Amino acid sequence: MVGLPSYIKDIALQRIDILLENALNNARKNMELAQRQAHIAKKICMKFNIRLPYEKRQLFCKGCKKFIVPGINSLVRLGNRPKSIRIRCLECGHIYRKIVER
Ligand SMILES: [Zn+2]
Repeated sequence: MVGLPSYIKDIALQRIDILLENALNNARKNMELAQRQAHIAKKICMKFNIRLPYEKRQLFCKGCKKFIVPGINSLVRLGNRPKSIRIRCLECGHIYRKIVER
């Protein structure tokens, strides 16, 4: 999107933050609601062409695009050599690996 006032993007970002925070809080009790909130957050991202920071992007599975929460519907494992984080989505089995070199 071209020529979008930056304050609109700020508002969109704030909404995304709130939605994802609520989704995280709700995930344990009500995953369906959490999925819906995360889905709305993702739609706002796409609409305003917003790229989420890494720690928020990892809440979405690269395979099935679902909202995944460590300990609930995803598993996070730390690996050695190279130091890495492996996030496994329990919804579709997709494994996302990130190398954390220092
Ligand atoms: Zn998945």
